[in-house]
Amino acid sequence: MTDPEITWLDANTVQLRQPKASHWEAPFLFLLFGRERSLLLDTGATTDETVFPLAATVTRLTDQWLRRNPAVFTRPYPLIVAHTHAHGDHIAGDALLRPRPGATVVGTTPAQVIAFFGFQRWPDEVVTLDLGQRPIDVIGGPGHEPSAVAFFDRATGILFTGDTVLPGHLYVRDIVPYRATIERLIRFREAAPAPVRELRGAHIEMAGVPRVAYPPGTLDQPDEPELALSPRILERILSALDELPASPDGRVARKRFIVVHDPR
Ligand SMILES: [Zn+2]
Repeated sequence: MTDPEITWLDANTVQLRQPKASHWEAPFLFLLFGRERSLLLDTGATTDETVFPLAATVTRLTDQWLRRNPAVFTRPYPLIVAHTHAHGDHIAGDALLRPRPGATVVGTTPAQVIAFFGFQRWPDEVVTLDLGQRPIDVIGGPGHEPSAVAFFDRATGILFTGDTVLPGHLYVRDIVPYRATIERLIRFREAAPAPVRELRGAHIEMAGVPRVAYPPGTLDQPDEPELALSPRILERILSALDELPASPDGRVARKRFIVVHDPR
């Protein structure tokens, strides 16, 4: 049993990281509390509660928050489980949360994501999910994976970008929609309903040296950088895309990320 690494980013926002000891991908998950419901972004890489106790951790954190917020009466306090994208290391824990009273687990196909959030013009549209005095903007984001979305939390100014933007490998499955997604995120940032302070993706893979990443499978990353990236990283990704070879596995390394063409 390896408990997640837990960081309260503010009084209503938790960052959870699945420990390397339970899965080398060590994805980040986020739990956001609103006055009417909470939102969990991603469920990690493991389906086994005894390896990574996701359900127990969500319950413990929710109970903590509800004790500090006694004015929130709804019981069971609803939980929406959504995903930055549908890759296995971000959805494996869904089954652990499905039985939870009050939980809604969003499906992982593009059609299910579009239907749940109410996109009319996917992906060129921003829709809003309200957690209760806490609006979350949901931005279409295919390119790394067809059902990918980004989530913007106006309260903290954090743009949650999954595997689309992170300090590590940016695996681009489809170059055209990926570029359109980065451009869409830039447009969103420029006209956002609240200042975009930082981007938080779902993994850290860079080593302590610019342009160098730990190889996939690494279990110990003593020199890894911070997860949070500056919103200005988006322009640097666009410029790297200009140089990206169209051949499979073509790559362009920058200080804080490595773009990899990864058609699958
Ligand atoms: Zn992924």
